[in-house]
Amino acid sequence: MQSSPQELAAPGENAFGALNNTAKPCGDCSLCCKVLTVTALQKKPGRWCTHHAGGKCDIHATKPFECGAFQCFWTLAPGLEEEWRPDRSKLVLWSDSDNRLIVDVDPGFPGAWRREPYYAQLKIWADRDRPNPLEVLIRTNGRLTVLFPEAEVELGLCGPDSSVDSGYRVEGGRRTPYARYVESVTLPA
Ligand code: SF4
Ligand code: SF4
Repeated sequence: MQSSPQELAAPGENAFGALNNTAKPCGDCSLCCKVLTVTALQKKPGRWCTHHAGGKCDIHATKPFECGAFQCFWTLAPGLEEEWRPDRSKLVLWSDSDNRLIVDVDPGFPGAWRREPYYAQLKIWADRDRPNPLEVLIRTNGRLTVLFPEAEVELGLCGPDSSVDSGYRVEGGRRTPYARYVESVTLPA
């Protein structure tokens, strides 16, 4: 199995604090230009940016700050090998906060996250009993699934600012995974 983001963090750091020491070059990958939102361009997730041409950015010198600042975990995590490269795995792994792993799936391959070795590793990362537990969010074609080792909780359509609460409820001595949107969901226009 691959090293986990947590294992790459030094003790006392947040889950992803040590990831940016060794950046791999993106090479021919440009999948983040498809799957992510770019607020400055009003670019919606899941479709290629209009500035993506011939596999490259046609406004490279003047691209929005958020584009230049973005680095997915494949570039940052030495333990994620070639099979995890986003243009091969069809998965862009990143985070917007401590203890959350976002997996943006290429809409052209919506089942990619269920293939191996990805599915098994994602469930390992989703284990809330691990040190520095992660909330693993799978986003596919605008729909959100919260992954647990023993369950997938589908929350349906998600907006760009959808906020999630998830964890376990203890009912009758049994732990049951739950996930819900915290606020009303603003859907993309
Ligand atoms: S998805 Fe990752 S590897 Fe691919 S272009 Fe974006 S930052 Fe680079
Ligand atoms: S502006 Fe350039 S770097 Fe940013 S999403 Fe579009 S093509 Fe990619």
